[in-house]
Amino acid sequence: MNLSKLARDIAPSPTLALNEEARVLREKGEAVIHLGAGEPKNKAPIAAILSSAAKLTAGDIKYTPTEGTPSLRKAIIRYTEENYDRLAAPENILVSSGAKQSLYNLLYTLLNPQDEVLILTPYWVSYPEMVKMLYGVPVIVQNEDGTFHPRFEDVKRYVTSYTKAIIVNSPNNPSGAVYSEELIGQLVEFCEAKGIFFISDDIYHKLIFDGKRWPNPYKYSKETLENTHVIALNGVSKLYGMTGFRVGWCVAPKKIIEVMTNVQSQTTTTTSVVQQAAAEGALTGVQSVIESLRLMLENNRNVMVNELKGMSGAHLTPPNGTYYCLPDFRAYGAPFGNDSVKMCKFLLDKARVVTVPGREFGVEGHLRLSYCGTIKEIKQGVERIKWAFDPTSPNEIFIGERKHVRDWL
Ligand code: PMP
Repeated sequence: MNLSKLARDIAPSPTLALNEEARVLREKGEAVIHLGAGEPKNKAPIAAILSSAAKLTAGDIKYTPTEGTPSLRKAIIRYTEENYDRLAAPENILVSSGAKQSLYNLLYTLLNPQDEVLILTPYWVSYPEMVKMLYGVPVIVQNEDGTFHPRFEDVKRYVTSYTKAIIVNSPNNPSGAVYSEELIGQLVEFCEAKGIFFISDDIYHKLIFDGKRWPNPYKYSKETLENTHVIALNGVSKLYGMTGFRVGWCVAPKKIIEVMTNVQSQTTTTTSVVQQAAAEGALTGVQSVIESLRLMLENNRNVMVNELKGMSGAHLTPPNGTYYCLPDFRAYGAPFGNDSVKMCKFLLDKARVVTVPGREFGVEGHLRLSYCGTIKEIKQGVERIKWAFDPTSPNEIFIGERKHVRDWL
């Protein structure tokens, strides 16, 4: 069949294949532990439920303006003022079906074919693929010092006359790194001087630990909201645990939002009114739900770090935010040629633990482990990984809490 070359070139996600395998195993009653999840188990905030339920009960479920309901955009204006210290107008905001769609609309609006987009390593898996889907060129910035903290000098080396934008995700999925104020400041100033768009993917921006503060990129922009090159993406998925509601947004100069709105109007028209109502409920309801989630995650992070300390071959840069960490398992990687997809498959086969291959994020030999599940899952999951990677651990001996695992060996 003669399908589009561009579409065929989009990488399939190894995660989806692993998730499917895990689902089938679970259905068979196997004790699979999922350390691959990108969503916590908490319920959506009650304010979000009530607000969307009221919409449903009223039965008035129609199209909304493409850019989003006026009341949700009002809530986002307040959010922007409180969190970014910028006074946005309604015309600075476009609501979409998830921050993922916001990013796609934005890249569609900014990129000409062959334009380059700088992507910092490790990166969220969708960035390079989305750039490619729009005939752009993803330019992967490698950190020379091998850390999860890009250095300004390293980033600058990748800039060419084709560089149109840089995508910055801090706190970072998958490493949990929170970039320094200094780096954010340098990048924003540099981008504005060069006319490069600084796309700030802030989807985890309040899920930060150890008393660290999130560097607000607008603080370093000398421009007004109409002229700035800083563009913010955000949404309710991660902070409120509302991944299934699919609501995200973009804050940008009016001329960018205008074109993005046209793009969206020709594709999805708008985001469902029911979901927009839910997002509005979350943004205007009790905000302590975020702090509760953050505290839970910080505690889980501590458990995960502690458990991994007990593994001599796991090298972890402790995460300062998000749901994830990205330990380096290369000490165990030789039998797999350090191929992280093979390592993940092995862990699922031998120990029934789901992890995400580092390759998806641009770092081989690493695995992304998520700590947004339960403490028990974290402890047992790491214990199983430890056992599976230990070449001296006989397959048939499995003691204590892990006894049941023996059944499937
Ligand atoms: N950016 C990053 C870094 C993410 O991890 C995700 C979700 N995994 C998104 C954006 C997209 O979020 P949404 O659910 O709002 O589409």
